[in-house]
Order: sequence, then C-alpha cells, then structure tokens
Amino acid sequence: MSEQKPYRLPTTVVPERYEIKLTPDLSAATFAGEEKVSIQVIEPVRQIVVNAAELEFQAVSIRAPGGKPARGNVTLDSENEQATFNFPEILNPGRWELQITFSGILNDKLHGFYRSTYKDPNGQEKTLASTQFESTDARRAFPCWDEPAFKAIFQVTLVVDEKLTAISNARAIRQTPLPGTRKKEVVFADTMKMSTYLVAFIVGEFEGSEPVMVGNAPLRVWAVPGKGHLGKFALQIGSFSLSFFSRYYDIPYPGDKLDLIAIPDFASGAMENLGAITFRETALLVDEEKATRSELERVADVVSHENAHMWFGDLVTMKWWNGLWLNEAFATFMEMLAVDAWKPEWRRWDSFTVSRAAAMQVDGLKSTRPIEFPVERPEEAAGMFDVLTYEKGASVLRMLEQYLGDNAFRDGIRLYLRHHQYANAETTDLWDALEESTHQPARALMDSWIFQAGYPLLSVKKDGRELVLSQRLFRYLQEGEAPDRKFHVPVFLRAGAKGRSIDKIVLLTDQELRIELSEDPDWVVANAGGHGFYRVRYSPDLMAAVKRELQIHLLPVERFNLVNDTWATTLAGLTSLTDYLDLMGLLRDERDLNVWTTVIISCHHLHRILDEVQDRSFQERIRAIFNPALERLTWAPREGETELERQLRGDLIGALGTVGEDQACQKRARELYAQYEKDPASVERNLVPALVSIVAYTGNGTDYEKFYARVKNAQTPQEETRYLFALGAFRQPDLIDRTLKMTIGGEVRTQNAPYLMRGILLNKDARERAWSFMKTHWEEMLHRYPDNSIPRMCEGIIGLVSPELEADVREFFAHHPVKQGAKQMEQHLERLRIAVVCKERWKDLLRT
Ligand SMILES: [Zn+2]
Repeated sequence: MSEQKPYRLPTTVVPERYEIKLTPDLSAATFAGEEKVSIQVIEPVRQIVVNAAELEFQAVSIRAPGGKPARGNVTLDSENEQATFNFPEILNPGRWELQITFSGILNDKLHGFYRSTYKDPNGQEKTLASTQFESTDARRAFPCWDEPAFKAIFQVTLVVDEKLTAISNARAIRQTPLPGTRKKEVVFADTMKMSTYLVAFIVGEFEGSEPVMVGNAPLRVWAVPGKGHLGKFALQIGSFSLSFFSRYYDIPYPGDKLDLIAIPDFASGAMENLGAITFRETALLVDEEKATRSELERVADVVSHENAHMWFGDLVTMKWWNGLWLNEAFATFMEMLAVDAWKPEWRRWDSFTVSRAAAMQVDGLKSTRPIEFPVERPEEAAGMFDVLTYEKGASVLRMLEQYLGDNAFRDGIRLYLRHHQYANAETTDLWDALEESTHQPARALMDSWIFQAGYPLLSVKKDGRELVLSQRLFRYLQEGEAPDRKFHVPVFLRAGAKGRSIDKIVLLTDQELRIELSEDPDWVVANAGGHGFYRVRYSPDLMAAVKRELQIHLLPVERFNLVNDTWATTLAGLTSLTDYLDLMGLLRDERDLNVWTTVIISCHHLHRILDEVQDRSFQERIRAIFNPALERLTWAPREGETELERQLRGDLIGALGTVGEDQACQKRARELYAQYEKDPASVERNLVPALVSIVAYTGNGTDYEKFYARVKNAQTPQEETRYLFALGAFRQPDLIDRTLKMTIGGEVRTQNAPYLMRGILLNKDARERAWSFMKTHWEEMLHRYPDNSIPRMCEGIIGLVSPELEADVREFFAHHPVKQGAKQMEQHLERLRIAVVCKERWKDLLRT
C-alpha cells in the first residue's frame, strides 16, 4: 500500500542508523539540529522523501562512503508533512550517508519536542523540554522516516546548559564541557533497532533516584526538583514488573538502562519510549503514606503497562497503525498480570471487570468499531487510543488465555516475540505463533473478536437436563435491524446439581448450542470466573435461581457481571427498571468493592437521567441499600480489614453523601473533613476522597476558597488533582462559573483542563452552564488543549440528558466536527441518545 498514497513514504530508500545532535534553547523555545543518516538505497533515485513538520532546513547533502558530498535542495509538502531532498545525480543502490542541518521550535502543544513549565520549591518558574512522538510527531523534532516499519538505530547527542540533566533512550557514554559556552555535550550510546515514535529527549533540572539494578540495566525514577522523594513506590513496582516480564517473555530487557521520568505537562498517561519512559506526574509520583489504595494502584498499573511495552511495542512493533491494538491490548493485559503477581491482595483481575465493563459499554453501541480496522492516514490512528483498543483488546486476550490455558498461551507469546524481535509484525503473525505452540484454532476464534465490532448477548435456558445457549448481538438501542454477527464464544459454565458443582468450557460458534449435563441443574452461571466478553441473560427460572444463590455460589466477579449485565439490559429496554432496582435491593449484604463499584456507577448514571421528583424517591432507595452496608463496615477502620474494605468504606460514604443525599452522612463527612484539616493523620487516607467530594457537593464559597488554596499548595500530584477536580463538583452558580473560567484562564494545566471541563458537564447542577460555556469558548479550547484530549473532554455531553439539550448538542457538533475523534464523538452522541430514550421510557416510574 505504500507507494501510491501521498502521505506514505517510498520504500526505495531505508534508514539504518541516525546520528542526531540537538541543541535546545529553552528560553527562546527553539532548537538547532544536525543529523547524519546512514541509508540503504534500494532502487536508483534522484530524490529522497522523509517526514518533517514545522522544521526549517539549512543544508542537505549526500555522499557515498569515502566520497565527496553533493548538495541537495529541499522542497516541503506541509499537507503531507514531508520534505523531499533533490540531488543533481542519480543515487545508485547501496549505502549512502545523508547529512542535514535544520532547526525547529519547542512548542506548547505537548507533542513533538515541547516545553513544560513548573514552579521550583522556591516558587520560581522553570522550563524543561520533553518529547512525545507517538503517533507521528518525531517529524517535528528531526527529519525522519516516521513510520513504524522503518526501524533503525539511533545515536543521540544533546548540547545543553551545564547544570541541566539530559536523558535519552540509551546510556550517556560521554559528557564533555564546551569551554566558554556554559554548555556541555552529552553523547548517548546507540539504541537497538527501533521505530522513530519511540525516540525521546528530555532536558531540564531533575532529581534522580539511586539506581536499582534489574539484570544488567540500572532503573531510575526522575522528577523535577522537590519531588524526587515521591518516586520510591514507582521504583519498587518498576523493578518488580521489569524482572517479571523478562521471566514471562523469557527475553532479557532489551535496553541498556531504564529511566522513568515525570513530566509536569503531559498529554496522555505515559509513553513507552525505550529506556526513557515519560509519565504525567500522577501516574509516577506518589506518597505511599498519604495516597489512597486506588491512587497507588494507578501508579502500579501505568508503570507495569509501560514496562510491558519494552518488549510488546518496542522490541516487536506493529507494521502499521491498524495493528496498534497489538501494542496496547497486550500492554494492558500484561499490566494486570504483573500487578496481580505483585499485590495479590488487590485482586487486580477482579477489578479489571470494571474496565471490561467500560469497554462493553462503548462496544454495545451501534457506533462501535472492531478492535482492528483499516487505517489509511496515520492521523486516523489517533482515534484508536480508546477503551476498545486497550480494555476490550485486553479482555479478549484474557478470554483467550483462559481458554487455551495460561502456560500454553505464554509459550505462544514467547514464540511470537522471538520470531519478530527487532522487527515488525501483524495480527496474523500472533495467531500463527499461538497456533504453532498450542495446536488450537486461535485464529478463527480471535478473528471473530478482533475484526467484528460488538459482542453477543448470550441467552441461557433449561430444557430438562439440557442447557440451551444462544447468541445475538447486544445493543443498547433497539431501533432498526441488528446485523447478524456470530462470535466464537468460549462459554465458561458452572452449574450446581444436588449439591455438586459441574464445570465445563464449551465453544459456541453457531446461533445455538445445546449441552447435555449429567444432572438436571439447580442453578447455572454462564460466565464462570467472569472472563468472557459477553453478557448473559437467564430465563426467568434460572434468574430466580441465580438470585437465590447470589451470596452462596457466585464469586464476586460473577455477582459483578450479574449486576452489570442486568443494568445494561435495563438501559437496552430488555429488563424493567423495577427489576434492576430489586436486584440492587438484594445487595445489602454485599461486601465486594467491585460489585459496589458497578452499583455506584449505575446510580450516578440514573441520577443524570431522572428528574427531581424521581430522584428523591431514588435517593430513598439508595439510602435503604447503602446504609446497612456502611453500618456493617462502620465509619472507623477496624483491625484486620483489607485495603479493599477500606476503599469500599470511602466509596459507600461518597455515594451516600452525594447521589444518596443522606444528610446525616453529609453532616458527619463535613465534621470529619474539618478534623482532617486540623490533623490529617487522624483520618484514614482511603476516606479522604469521599470527604472531599461531599464537602464540594454541599459546599459554599468558603469551602471553595479552601479547596482552591489546596490546589495551589498541594504536596503531591494526587492531592493537586483531587482538589482541582473537586472544584468542578461544587453546585452554586457563581462557583461553577468561576471554575469554568479557570478551564481557559491559563492557571490550570492544559493536560488537566479538558478533564475538569468534562467533570463540570457531568455535574447535574452545572451541566447547562457548562454546555453554554463550552459552546462560547469552543475555538479557544481547540486552540489551547492537546489534540487527543478534545474527544475525551466531549464525553461530558453524555450528561446533557434532555431532548432539548440533545438537539442542541447535535446541532452544535454538526457545525463543529471534532476531527481528532469522529468515531468517539458518534459514540458520545449515541450514549446521550440512550439516556434520553431511557428518560422518556421511565418518565412515569419512581413517582411515589
Ligand atoms: Zn500503552
């Protein structure tokens, strides 16, 4: 596909080794560059085409080894982000050396080579420079073959102020002061053969941890001055996961060192540059003594995820962006494996059900997409960084792993990595490796999940000793004909008969499958262990049996799925809201954090749909269900309880005090928060987010001022974002307006402002003001915020639940299409549609 597409590079010339020397000027926001590239000319050419964007060229020349340089002239194509070097003579096949001098800008858009600013411990404003190249922004820092299949070796040299730290992908091998310039030249070793999007340069004042050796590689955590002490936790999970992966993959870590670097301004969560992984601060730096369990888990997740990429992504890379899921789904899957091995008490695979449910929510839309789809222009890959690539991808891998067996699956992965290391691969290569190693039909099974959008709703009924399973595509919106899609569904069954339990795994490939059991079952769980990426709908008699066995024979993940599937079929109009609320009523005795999480998410969802009168009646039900659970846990931490129970206590209180509108809870939470202000150590840390959210929900101007001051003087990145996002949860109009202004006023980092905006849109009391503010300031937001955050911010429109608002939203986006995420916008609009349809369907309920 390469030659004919104007945005793809010709394959007549391929790079082998780059020598890149950059001299950034942080105060002028510019950089100067020199580059030497050893290339292989495959076919005779007179032109060389590379990618370049926002670069100026000073000189280009080419020479054969030992020959004289010939100057070339440069023509630019800004539309396709390419530069063409034209030479006077034909270049014959063989090795050549290309030499380029150029200059560029350090931008503020958090991509390419960009600037980030922060205040040092003395309150002085400082600047650093960092890179973010995935998917196609290496071309903003140096001219290159910026497509993942053009792998090459990179040797980087950075010329920086003598007091600054310079980091790149490989070890620094030489630091030489440049007399009279107050600068030094830092020369880095050669990298392995890798793609351009993984190259990184970081320059600034940094505090680094002592190295921890993992195999032969020193591992360090870096932060801006004053924050170095927050890197200890990341160092622990960093070294654990790196050695865990080298054992799992049976291949040593492919780099020569590994630096984990926190960057104050960062558009995504983290970036897997080989040997120099960059993070937003909340994903790397954390105070283990003060952070909540879920904040610690987030750091453990992200660090493990990025470390997993050193093999999956960096060592073996997708050929083109359509294969992005190979990188991301695997890294997500591996992140769970590593964190689960590190802290089994967190039961990471159980909490993964919450992520799986988030993917199923999007994948139940008409506007969903297959995990892998054809990507033409590289910018189309931007729309792939979503829950379908990461969470659905990881879920179907988990399903496959459970079906094949974990050791067989791991052996297939090892084979795949060994076959394709230092090179590129496609989805089909993975199935080849798995089939070769397991002798099971992995391809047919997985193709149905990777190349088809959506997932099945599995109906289960009993016919004597036979179980009848049938599949059809699940959809929230029933209008129109659903396409006839069949999946190869590994069905994990557990049935109870005469006090015995029967386990069975069957493969449903057709519309229907009848399974004869040895006994007439009393109850059946059709997604045993919770690994299947499907929803289950039981016949009324089986549903009654499952409800009866809820706390006896069902695992927590199975209860989670029962609640989550029932909520989904309720939104889809296949189950009545009354039935769902009755099921919720059975959970008074529930003790599992994840089951409660799905209940709480559905409560917030309902709250956004219901009108005021309905809401009051709904709140009564919430209190009747949540209060007994909280009474059993009590407000004070007890001896011997788990971290998950501590988090559950916080979550129950947070829900009761907000969507539950429980005044006694609100009063007590405010008292406890006042105590926390005086003596932080006296309040259990997992309780604090709940207290903060209740104070904001019930808060006035005085509370707002306190929170605002907390944002400004936060001791940790977690504390800063906790209070910042809490500002968006206040409900008084003047306070809402103040927060709205902050989103574009420059005082909130552009890495956070779009998410603050999303939060205000989802705040029922603020949503209309927020929507009109967003419309008014739309152009400014587009200009200010990182591109990838725009569709994520717009997710907030799902909260605008009324026919009038919906019409206005559709009208607005018809005239203001979001080019960075057309698919995601379609999905947000459909989610809004579903909520409006439900509002209409339920308008007569909950009125007494
Ligand atoms: Zn990733």
